[in-house]
Formats: sequence, structure tokens, C-alpha cells
Amino acid sequence: MKRLFLGLFGLMMIFSLLLGLFSSGTDQIKVTILYDNYVYAEGTKSDWGYACLIEGIEKTILFDTGTKGEILMHNMRQLDVDPQKVEMVVISHEHGDHTGGLPAFFRENSDVSVYHPASFSEKFVQGVKMAGAISIPVDEPVKLCEGVFSTGEMKGGPIEEQSLILETSQGLVVITGCSHQGIVNIVRKARAMSDKNIHIVFGGFHLLQHSDEAVNQIIAQFKEMGVVKCGATHCTGDKQIALFEKAYGPNFVQMGVGRVLAFPK
Ligand SMILES: [Zn+2]
Ligand SMILES: [Zn+2]
Repeated sequence: MKRLFLGLFGLMMIFSLLLGLFSSGTDQIKVTILYDNYVYAEGTKSDWGYACLIEGIEKTILFDTGTKGEILMHNMRQLDVDPQKVEMVVISHEHGDHTGGLPAFFRENSDVSVYHPASFSEKFVQGVKMAGAISIPVDEPVKLCEGVFSTGEMKGGPIEEQSLILETSQGLVVITGCSHQGIVNIVRKARAMSDKNIHIVFGGFHLLQHSDEAVNQIIAQFKEMGVVKCGATHCTGDKQIALFEKAYGPNFVQMGVGRVLAFPK
């Protein structure tokens, strides 16, 4: 009897230890860059496109899927990311460098809801449904799950686009796809949706055609809006990224495939 009691006690101790380990892993929001024009971690592949994974919140989210399925899957494997863990997919806009990896992802896991701007083509929506996933059009700004918001479908640029906003104890984390609606407009929108400060903005800023002067103006607006850190990447442009890096100094966060960012909840 005593031995049984000790055995049970031991089991309980192991269980609570495991529980402790598990819960300590969830007090942070973790973002892993899976697809980008630049490499950060050795063994991953870069390519024109963007995708990242968000973990440690209510739902595990895949934001965008890059261009080529085989590169997305290679980077996932390389970074120990299990596609089966993804519960929600959010697509910023209907350009191939953000939607291209979706069919390959669906072959691994189609038990997901796909949040996309409401203006997406019927072809895209049908593709999602045919794969067995759920298509959820996004129009207005919306809460996607606990602590995660979409700017809603922003219009007026060359293509409708949504960006992702995470609420953390450090402030808002704004993740962009290509920023076709203008990176400053996106940050402004995020600010209008919350009274929290902007901790960091990262993703593609789409400034390839912008002169140094125009980029510096955007940086000045970033600072005015209180953007503490930034990580310009993907379609921002090498020269333009260098300007952000110079202006933000230690608060510039280098991106690239394999970069992992952690934010306290
Ligand atoms: Zn893009
Ligand atoms: Zn685009």
C-alpha cells in the first residue's frame, strides 16, 4: 500500500514537473520566419516571398506561405516546424509570393481555417475549399483569436491587403506581407485599433522604388508614431533596408529565414 502511494506520489510529481515545463513555454509569443528573401539560419533557403509562424498564443498561426511549396517545406523541416501544429492560416494578399506555398502546406495539413481579404478570387477560395480547409473572408478589422488581430482588408493601393497585429506586454507587434497599402498607413491603422504602443513592425515594406529621401521620411514617421523597433525585409529593397538599419541602430532587428523572435505575453 505504502509502495503504491509512493508510486502515485512520484507520478504526480513527474506530471506537475511536466506541466510546469509546458506552461513556462507558453508565457512567450514566438515568431519564426519561414520564408524570406534573406537567410538568417544556416541550412535554410532564401527565395523571393514571405511566411512566418506564430506560436504560444491561443492558435498556432501560419502567416503567408511564400512562393514555392518545396522551399517552404524545406525551411519548416530545417527549423523543426511541424505543419500539423498549424491551426490557422492568414494570407496577407493574393500575390504568388505569399500564396504560392499553400497547396504544398495543404498536402501536410488542411485541417485549418484560412483568413484572407474578402476580395480574393473565386479561384483561391475554391482551392481552399477543395483542399478541405475553411475559407474565412476578412473585410473589417477583426480579432482572429486571443491577442491576435487583423487590420482588416485595406483598400486603395494596387491590391487589397491585411496585416497581422499581436498584442504583447511590450506593445503591439505588427507583421506585414508586402505593405502594398503603404507601410505608414498600416502602422497608422494598427495604432487606431489599440491604445498600446507599437513595439515592432516587421515584414515586407515594399519600398524598392523609393528614393533615400522618401525612405527617410517614412523612418521619421515611424519614429513620430513611436515605433520602437523595426525589421524591414522581403520586398523592402537592400538599399532601403540599410537605411532602416542605420536609423534604428540596435533597435533594427535583422530578419531572414530562421530568425526567431520572442515576445513576453
Ligand atoms: Zn511580397
Ligand atoms: Zn505583393
